[in-house]
Amino acid sequence: MSEPQILFSRQQIAQRVAEMGAQITRDFSGEPIILIGVLKGAAIFLSDLARQIQLDATFDFIGVSSYGNRPSPAQELQGGWDSTGEVRLTKDVDQSMADKNVIVVEDILDTGLTMTYLRKLFLAHQPKAFRIAALLDKSSRRIMPIKADYVGFQIPDEFVVGYGLDHAERYRNLADICTLPRG
Ligand code: 5GP
Repeated sequence: MSEPQILFSRQQIAQRVAEMGAQITRDFSGEPIILIGVLKGAAIFLSDLARQIQLDATFDFIGVSSYGNRPSPAQELQGGWDSTGEVRLTKDVDQSMADKNVIVVEDILDTGLTMTYLRKLFLAHQPKAFRIAALLDKSSRRIMPIKADYVGFQIPDEFVVGYGLDHAERYRNLADICTLPRG
């Protein structure tokens, strides 16, 4: 398989994440927030973003996976994504979100199916505010009408790994965001 190629360096990521943290700090000025990380890809982004937010913040995590139609990682690399599968919950949050300022922290918005599912789930809890922070946005791939409130980087339709993102569970620990050339 081809070697990962750097798309965004660790320095670029650190700078952008600091800007996002500052923006969230300004937007919620003085109010408490709950950061909800979408497992597993957003774990590293959440841990860096949280330390750039100067507010009273708590963490939670949620797990999702797609039913059926998503191909294996090897097929994804060869033929692009097929995100027509439905999304299902594999781990729910541990605390109530009613009347709280909720920020869902996601690694990448691709077709938007996952986040559309999560938005519906969270809004049913009647939070005080609901915002989406996505490190990466592949907006050209969107099939659902959903946007993030905070976006790290817009990216083209490439398969990316590193900084939490995997290919068959590998590469999550790369410090840079890299493309994995389709082989
Ligand atoms: P969506 O439901 O928006 O199509 O997909 C979102 C999820 O698909 C992301 O949270 C991520 O797990 C996965 N995904 C989409 N594009 C990529 C990519 O380029 N690389 C990796 N590693 N995962 C991706």
